[in-house]
Amino acid sequence: MSRIVCKFGGTSLADALQFKKVRAIVEADQRRTIVVPSAPGKRMASDAKLTDLLYLCQQSASVGSDFTPVFARVSERFLEIEQALGLKAGMADHLDQLHKTIIRGVSKDHIASRGEYLNGLLMAAYLGAEFIDPQECILLNANGGVHPDTYRMLGERLANTNKRYVIPGFYGRDANGHIKTFSRGGSDISGAIVARAAQAELYENWTDVSGLLMADPRVVANAKPMEEATYAEIRELSYMGATVLHDEAISPVREVGIPIAIKNTNAPDHPGTRIVNKLSPEIDKSTEIAGIAGKKNFVMINIEKNLMNKEVGFAFRLFGVLERHGVSFEHCPSAIDSMSVIVEASQLEGKTEVVLEEIRNTLNPDRLELEPQIALIAVVGEGMAKTIGIAAKVFVALREAQVNVRLINQGASELNIIVGVMPEDYETALRALYGVFVND
Ligand code: ASP
Repeated sequence: MSRIVCKFGGTSLADALQFKKVRAIVEADQRRTIVVPSAPGKRMASDAKLTDLLYLCQQSASVGSDFTPVFARVSERFLEIEQALGLKAGMADHLDQLHKTIIRGVSKDHIASRGEYLNGLLMAAYLGAEFIDPQECILLNANGGVHPDTYRMLGERLANTNKRYVIPGFYGRDANGHIKTFSRGGSDISGAIVARAAQAELYENWTDVSGLLMADPRVVANAKPMEEATYAEIRELSYMGATVLHDEAISPVREVGIPIAIKNTNAPDHPGTRIVNKLSPEIDKSTEIAGIAGKKNFVMINIEKNLMNKEVGFAFRLFGVLERHGVSFEHCPSAIDSMSVIVEASQLEGKTEVVLEEIRNTLNPDRLELEPQIALIAVVGEGMAKTIGIAAKVFVALREAQVNVRLINQGASELNIIVGVMPEDYETALRALYGVFVND
């Protein structure tokens, strides 16, 4: 039988009521045999995510502070779900064990992973499914990526297509067998890995919005949902700040062509967004762009040197400095005698001065300056490559909104046009671009 892997995010599993919705969704389609849960998320805006509480416990314990009050909040959430659903999943014992583990002092990853682990035990008991601990069969590399052996190990573990399985998100193990988590929001990655290992026909990612929106709703009121988008478009958009899906969750399924559906646990009948390899012809014809996304926290290092264009290896030495300091860069616009590097501000945290100093010593520039704040906005769409006038539209919209463009970048793939603006112009620019492409 063909299978669907369903990953449920934190808000979809925040309390017993949400668990009930999840069970109804799973039972509504018999192909939904594999469930990947996150840890309980926020029940309301002022609430805490369970994973954050666990990090807090670990942090307090590591400096010898009393973590009992925070741990009580963790316990309360799990016990409440167990009780309200009438389950006997042994939560009290598991929590007792976790408490001891924190006192004993295990790794941050180990403690953070327990949100998913315990929620997985509850979900398995609730669905009458077999529980699989990802520590057994999801192997992570030292850099946090998935080890290719995972697909075989996990595939064997999930072999029975008639069975229902629950496998928690967010973690696996490292080469030494210790628990290792993905980066934050990483249950999306787990879901994609599980979908690939199970050779699923579809990876459903259940969240609290009805699909991906064409722009950040905090900036553009009533931003429209996307019906369909390609893997490449979503990767660009999520990398540039669209927050619904982790940007590393695409590759595992993209490589084998498993489509993703972004769905809303609170409105399961809404079609949501389908992420595919190639757009269907109607969508392809009717949409100019997939969406617009952006982020504010970039810095720009500007380097000027007379006759830079003649100096062989200039860029090589510049990138060498960045590499030595573990700084990854985003874009590198250049002119004959100048070059800029755009870097996410967090990349330079605590090392700005050292990096600048080394650039100065290595390249001996005539001028070196740091622009401490720049915002990037990406207009993304596969259709761009074959449509004339997209760039014209972008720049007319920005001129009409009186936004000064600090940098322009378009990759060879013609999947996006990226503009850099001052952070104070970010919202205006985003709305102007949305207006011209979507509400025209
Ligand atoms: N619970 C983890 C986090 O808060 C992983 C996830 O929800 O995807 O980041």
